[in-house]
Amino acid sequence: MKRPRIQISASRGRIRYPVRISPGILDRAGALLRAGRAPGIVLVVTDRTVLRLHGARFLAGLRRAGWTPRVAALPPGERSKTLAHVRALCERWAAWRVDRSVPVVALGGGVVSDVAGFAAAAYARGLDWYAFPTTVLAQADAAIGGKVGVNLPGGKNLVGAFHHPRGVYGDPDVLRTLPPRALRSGLAEVAKIGVIRRPSILAGLRRLAREGPGQGRLAALIRSAAREKAWYVSRDPEDRGVRRELNFGHTVGHALEVALGYGRLTHGEAVSIGMVAALRLSVREAGLDPAASRGVEELLRSLGLPVGLKLRPGKKFWRALARDKKRGRLRTRMVLSPAIGAAKTYELPSLTPLRGVVQSLVQKP
Ligand code: NAD
Repeated sequence: MKRPRIQISASRGRIRYPVRISPGILDRAGALLRAGRAPGIVLVVTDRTVLRLHGARFLAGLRRAGWTPRVAALPPGERSKTLAHVRALCERWAAWRVDRSVPVVALGGGVVSDVAGFAAAAYARGLDWYAFPTTVLAQADAAIGGKVGVNLPGGKNLVGAFHHPRGVYGDPDVLRTLPPRALRSGLAEVAKIGVIRRPSILAGLRRLAREGPGQGRLAALIRSAAREKAWYVSRDPEDRGVRRELNFGHTVGHALEVALGYGRLTHGEAVSIGMVAALRLSVREAGLDPAASRGVEELLRSLGLPVGLKLRPGKKFWRALARDKKRGRLRTRMVLSPAIGAAKTYELPSLTPLRGVVQSLVQKP
């Protein structure tokens, strides 16, 4: 059966690129890059784990198509999302005398695509880049949409840019080597898309929780989530309007990542807890049916994702929340869901309801 293509297509800024989730596509990287350019040097950015597991196959494919890959591998994990790593990449490219004709390829999870995409945006005022995402989270979400950047100690993704890739090519086969924690973490962002826009994705996740990710179930869910993300990005490539709905669960999620220290919770785990907060707040402030909220909470739990906190978050959490760039300046802005399948930004008159909800996340021993 031929699947409908997923395409980012935004007339504003003339942004147009394919998003393909297709088994075996990693082997075709060289040919995909060759569309529209003659092979030469290609800058591959990856992390050490992905390089060990999938690097040989990926690099061999590039070489077969006539490319000369130059590889830089980051230490794996969120702690590599720093300006220091962007600078190190750029200095290495400068030492290799890279000019603007040379493309960048990001092979890895969301950390790799965020760092490589940002270095590509900054170096020589912009190199073309291509994403080959290797985690559920990056195939369904992070590699799509051109938001690239790094963390600061005081804020997630505080330094960044919009720099869209020329193509996003995710190979579901590489997900077989993902540790269970990373796989679960990606399902949190998939669930988010289900809550805010496409309830059938939640039904698919329930089935996956019952029957496992095999038989193309995981790939189909990733494709559905990627299609919805592409819908948002095409309508609002610069995140000024409807695309902000994708921040559902991220206000609390990002503050948790900052407060606990990057890497303690995975991004998806933090988003899972943040979504529970957003759902409970949606019940109080946006009229969401409490049973619907509990249903999603139950789904997250059955996927093995965290839905609560062991300890009450302290000052660092509230400071990070206040600084989260997704908050309005004067009042508290949060994306809430009035009904499953819908989302809207709400202005809360104060932080008090959010305080109550965050308190409710603390699980009794
Ligand atoms: P990640 O990149 O840290 O990958 C998670 C772990 O999986 C790492 O240890 C990595 O080495 C390993 N890994 C990757 N692919 C593998 C494979 N195929 N087999 C075995 N191990 C593999 O994290 P992530 O969850 O992919 O992405 C999280 C990041 O994405 C966060 O920094 C988040 O802020 C960002 N993000 C960005 C956007 C965006 O629009 N730019 C959207 C959502 C999330």
